[in-house]
Amino acid sequence: MFLDGQWVQAVSGDVFSVTNPATGEVIGEMPDGGAADTTAAIAAASAAFGSWSTTTAYERSAILYKAWQLMVERSEDLANLMTLEQGKPLKASRFEVSYAADFLQWFAEEAKRVTGEWLPSARANQRFLSIKQPVGVVGAITPWNYPISMLTRKMGPALAAGCTMVLKPAEATPLCAKAVFDVFVDAGIPAGVINMVTTSTPAPVGEVLTSDPRVAKLTFTGSTAVGKMLAGAAAANLQRVSVELGGHAPFIVYPDADPVHAAKGAAALKFLNSGQACISPNRLYVHRSVAEPFIETLTARVAKVKAGSGFDDGVGVGPLVNDAAVAKVANQVDDARAKGAEVPVGGERLETGDYANGHFYAPTLITGVTTDMLISHEETFGPVAPVMVYDEVDEVIELANATNYGLAAYVYTRDISTAFKAFEALRFGIIGINDVNPTSAAAPFGGMGDSGLGREGGHEGIDEYLETKLGGFAI
Ligand code: ADP
Repeated sequence: MFLDGQWVQAVSGDVFSVTNPATGEVIGEMPDGGAADTTAAIAAASAAFGSWSTTTAYERSAILYKAWQLMVERSEDLANLMTLEQGKPLKASRFEVSYAADFLQWFAEEAKRVTGEWLPSARANQRFLSIKQPVGVVGAITPWNYPISMLTRKMGPALAAGCTMVLKPAEATPLCAKAVFDVFVDAGIPAGVINMVTTSTPAPVGEVLTSDPRVAKLTFTGSTAVGKMLAGAAAANLQRVSVELGGHAPFIVYPDADPVHAAKGAAALKFLNSGQACISPNRLYVHRSVAEPFIETLTARVAKVKAGSGFDDGVGVGPLVNDAAVAKVANQVDDARAKGAEVPVGGERLETGDYANGHFYAPTLITGVTTDMLISHEETFGPVAPVMVYDEVDEVIELANATNYGLAAYVYTRDISTAFKAFEALRFGIIGINDVNPTSAAAPFGGMGDSGLGREGGHEGIDEYLETKLGGFAI
């Protein structure tokens, strides 16, 4: 763990093992921290806040630029570590490291663009001045599916704003978190500004982070159930809260879309990170007039996706995070099959040969999906593409919006009017229009409803870590 500028063991002396999800092999161990370690980390972050928050934006920017450069220099090592610890194909790991580094560069720039306002008053002898100041100590809890970029997406803006932090990474991917911290240490981050508590048992750490009065803000990325629970605890202490949670993205193919292009997009998007992404499409709505070529193309594409170790050439999907994840996917597919869906590709656990010790599920296509099936409303987080054919163009937005989640949605159409209407009517935070990658460090990422609160990245990203202060000046 990293406390006040030092790598330390847990107070208890306990450790936990980290495994490769493709092989089950132990690849490392980390200190198993708890409540006392978290309190010590908060104390360090709190003590460092005074000096860090009063550095100039230019000084903070310089450290973030240095961290960006180091992350780019180390990208191959970081990508290898990510594939080893998280399982995604090496190409995807390289892409994620580059995306992660983008947040450091973007917020190195944004650090210098935090400004205030000079406001007019109705009183002739009064002036108003508003300034932005860092909120204070930030508690950050991050997931395993994007084990480097989900850290930089929080650390970049928090540090740019002048906040100090205590980070708790996911128990499945602490080695990636350690490597990110090494980058910051080598970039010259002062002691106490960033602190990390690793643990195999997150609840006590979460309890301290959401109840210690020295923590001003909670930022969380993970499941909706845990996010709601933590946001509630944080709100009870009036901590500021940003939570980026689950999703159930619709993917709408309109009758005027190019069905082959749309199917290629769906295949590329659905199997990213083995489907373990909150913006992964979970309902593919295809108009009946284009369903045949769409399904034909998608079937061929899914059949070609190879599961395996992320280090092997030609592998398109890696393992899932653990056995529970495989069981959840299997349950949804079995439920759909039992209720009448067809499964033209995949539809089974991969458990023999090279797959025996990993957590694998076959890349799968399901057709004939109906609203009574679990997969039509529960997040899958696995390599399964569920297709629903629709008839009424006027009703498809309503179908797509029929979820409490509101993170990402995708639309394929060649009609500009349809595109604009769908963009405005879909109740989701991120809409891809003929685009399967509507994300960037420069763009706001976040959801509505059960998908969360707040935005990360873009200009909005740094606002989440800033307070507005008003000065009224009588002259
Ligand atoms: P997933 O289902 O994607 O693993 P989780 O919400 O369980 O999502 O995990 C996301 C992050 O939340 C991880 O860092 C995990 O350790 C953490 N987490 C899970 N349960 C708790 C909890 N009770 N308190 C604090 N953090 C938690």
